[in-house]
Amino acid sequence: MPYAYDDQNIFARILRGEIPNDTVMETEHTLAFRDITPQAPVHVLVIPKGPYVTYDHFCDQASDAEIVDFARTCAAICKQEGIAADTTPGYRAISNAGEHPIQEVPHYHMHLLGGRPLGRMLARADD
Ligand code: 5GP
Repeated sequence: MPYAYDDQNIFARILRGEIPNDTVMETEHTLAFRDITPQAPVHVLVIPKGPYVTYDHFCDQASDAEIVDFARTCAAICKQEGIAADTTPGYRAISNAGEHPIQEVPHYHMHLLGGRPLGRMLARADD
């Protein structure tokens, strides 16, 4: 089934200015703001301004300009927030897509997390 974008999702409402956000960076095609329930000292959500549901939807349907803008903005945020992996202990970039990873908000977003040790990516029985 093709992706159907729900324009009433919370990030669409943030983009329309209906709900406040703590903006970290904004460009022509991308908005980044702090997660309302941060899981680490740095927890930024990076979203495209266009109506994309998941990472694969974005990469398949967005223009080259949107994709480049998004990627460069992620890099700029890592520098700005002091989590870039070349000069600090680094960060984790996560994007949940769909039901199995429990995507809560159906507007594509990248979580950038850092500022503390983050453990393994996925819990394992022997961890
Ligand atoms: P997901 O589970 O979809 O990957 O992540 C959604 C994220 O959005 C969660 O980490 C949640 O805390 C965050 N979130 C949900 N509602 C809001 C909101 O209204 N404002 C902000 N800044 N973050 C939100």
